[in-house]
Amino acid sequence: MTQEKKFYSFRQNNSGGFFKELENGMFHLIVEANSAQEANEIAQEQGVYFNGCEDGLDCECCGDRWYTTSEYNVVNEDELSDYDGYLIIRKDVKT
Ligand SMILES: [Zn+2]
Repeated sequence: MTQEKKFYSFRQNNSGGFFKELENGMFHLIVEANSAQEANEIAQEQGVYFNGCEDGLDCECCGDRWYTTSEYNVVNEDELSDYDGYLIIRKDVKT
């Protein structure tokens, strides 16, 4: 049985008027995960952080740079190529 793949997106807010590069010119993130909670954990391993304003990392007036993802941010696998500027993290394939 194969589990349906789910991809969760994280769109970076340009808090303070600038974006932070994640990797190789990628500023936004998509991670493959089984749940939004898992996606949020994987994102944090990629340099994403939440509660940036509260922690004094982000501009108060612009808001947090990153927000946690949810089921509303699920992207279809066949649409991934439309997401320019997104770093895509796939799960390791285990057999
Ligand atoms: Zn601001």
